[in-house]
Amino acid sequence: MAPRQFRRKLNKMPKNLYKLIELLLSEIMPPSNQSPTSAYDKCYYFVKTEFSLMPLFYRIPIYILIQLFFFYCFIVSGCSSFNSLTQAKQKKLVTRWEKLWHPGYILFRLIRNLVYLCYFSQSATEIKKARSEDSFQASYCLTMPSMLSCDVLVIGAGVGGTTLAHELISAGIDTLLIDEGPFIKDIYQRPAFQNFSDVWRCGGLTAAFGKPPIAYAEGSCVGGGSEINSGIFQSAPAELLNELAKKYSIEEFNSVTLQAYYEKAEAMVNAQYLEPKLDSLTLEQAAHQLNWKGTYLKVAQKNKVKQSMCETLLPAALDKGLRLIAQCKAKKLILKNGQVTEVRAIATDHTGQKHTFRIKAKSVFVCSGAIYTPYLLLKSGIKKNIGRSLQMHPTLKTLCHFKNPVSQEASSVPSYAITEFMPEIRIGGSVMSPTFIAMSIAEDWKNRHELLNKMNYCGVYYAMIKPESMGKIRYIPGCKDPLVTYKLSGTDWAQLFKGLDYLQQTMFAAGATQVIPSVENHKGWYEKTSLDTIKTLKQNTFNLMSIHLFASCPMGEDKAQCAVNSFGKLHDYQNLYINDASIIPEALGTNPQGTIMALALRNAEHFIKTRSSE
Ligand SMILES: Cc1cc2nc3c(=O)[nH]c(=O)nc-3n(C[C@H](O)[C@H](O)[C@H](O)COP(=O)(O)OP(=O)(O)OC[C@H]3O[C@@H](n4cnc5c(N)ncnc54)[C@H](O)[C@@H]3O)c2cc1C
Repeated sequence: MAPRQFRRKLNKMPKNLYKLIELLLSEIMPPSNQSPTSAYDKCYYFVKTEFSLMPLFYRIPIYILIQLFFFYCFIVSGCSSFNSLTQAKQKKLVTRWEKLWHPGYILFRLIRNLVYLCYFSQSATEIKKARSEDSFQASYCLTMPSMLSCDVLVIGAGVGGTTLAHELISAGIDTLLIDEGPFIKDIYQRPAFQNFSDVWRCGGLTAAFGKPPIAYAEGSCVGGGSEINSGIFQSAPAELLNELAKKYSIEEFNSVTLQAYYEKAEAMVNAQYLEPKLDSLTLEQAAHQLNWKGTYLKVAQKNKVKQSMCETLLPAALDKGLRLIAQCKAKKLILKNGQVTEVRAIATDHTGQKHTFRIKAKSVFVCSGAIYTPYLLLKSGIKKNIGRSLQMHPTLKTLCHFKNPVSQEASSVPSYAITEFMPEIRIGGSVMSPTFIAMSIAEDWKNRHELLNKMNYCGVYYAMIKPESMGKIRYIPGCKDPLVTYKLSGTDWAQLFKGLDYLQQTMFAAGATQVIPSVENHKGWYEKTSLDTIKTLKQNTFNLMSIHLFASCPMGEDKAQCAVNSFGKLHDYQNLYINDASIIPEALGTNPQGTIMALALRNAEHFIKTRSSE
């Protein structure tokens, strides 16, 4: 079968799937709901869209699993198709299939997750301010010339790219910023499920292969990760910065030099302490009881509006003359004699039509994030120290039930964190909107469904580790997404077990009556347990995730281990730079946005200075 035909087949969903979604929704929909068809339709189209966005590496096995499930139903039910069975029979088959073998369980975990995400999605109604229509001129290319030129091309309008572009245009440098994702004006007014499909990389369904796989998330839109993140703003610990400066021979990277850039970045996104809410107070109370250190962290927020790149630096940069093209993807860098001579790009116009064109720039900054920056470079034939040292913060969540309500806000994230065990381990809280709590419940319907009626009394808290292990990013010709792998070391597992131990202690001290770790088939603990019990949990049953990615193209003067120099310029290339999370040489143990911005400010300053002196 030709690849295109195969892809089309992958996107085509059987009618049976509609029935399956109807069944999964009936598990959670109150019987009083009189007109459920629109809910079924909404979920069906959402699941279908998400499947089509999923990287091919997972889409193919998922497609095979779905077909296998329906085939299994066909055989077991005596040659009747799934959609012709009664709901009771369908339910029986789903339950049996889930018990039958592990991949069967994984399939339903995924579908339930998507269905719940869609069903419980709410618009964040408390955020009243919409971005004004005219605060932006997101330049979709209406008529695209076959070639564009500029002094500096910035590929990726995320945290690193936008901060850099803002500084360059402020210094009067002709700058073009492109992003493969869309520019979405009303991002905070939309229900979460819509943003998953439009704004999250591959619909939020990305994972690094390993035992177990680690689900990771990135933004893919103008504003990048800053549009979907929680806006927690943190500086990296001074000792760690000084240690990294030595280890990788990085110039002007010590804590004293970086302090001024951190302060400037903080002011740019209006980072400030917010009034503590119940979800934070719960954690703080536990820290006091256990006599552990903790702190409130600053959040990029003003008048209840998250201060993403699209709220802050991007409008300012556009006012100064920055050119921005949304839905424009850099496909390949063309290299000659150690220089980028042009960039091949493809843009989608407002009618959905695609245009390929070339961009000529004196200098090119790749700012496509810690996964897609190395991917673009590998695809363009640049390999030295690229994509071999990816780091992330493996994180384990627990779903906890409390005596008193903990989560009340539509999109609240606790800004308090327990720092006693940092930098190795941090205890904190996740987004506690109904959507995200429902997704935690969907992870294991059998053991958690009773919590569905007590969502206000549930909270999701996590333990996050700073690992020593590294992952890899590989370019596979013909695939539009990279293959990412990550294997945790024994030391990392020891930290994860310890992290889970501290986390469950914290939760019981905070008044939890049940603590369910994100571990397959775990019924939860009703009282404090011991580290020895935790260590008996099988590693491959952990559902790990990460939202912080780093170090896939580390910076430093040590050419043996670094991809770029101290200011982001690729070793051995004259006009090619990287400026995003990939140049941070190791996982920091802290939230990365502040450091990415501080480095972007420092590197922009260095670029502007050296450029004018040349
Ligand atoms: C759910 C979530 C919550 C988070 N919470 C926090 C938090 O509270 N605090 C914090 O500090 N950090 C947080 N982070 C992490 C933070 O958002 C990221 O570290 C940060 O956004 C990374 O910045 P970046 O510039 O490296 O890449 P990104 O911000 O990811 O930007 C990369 C951009 O490049 C674009 N791109 C990729 N390839 C191409 C191409 N070929 N052509 C054109 N464009 C391309 C992408 O569309 C994207 O917009 C969170 C992340 C997530 C996902």
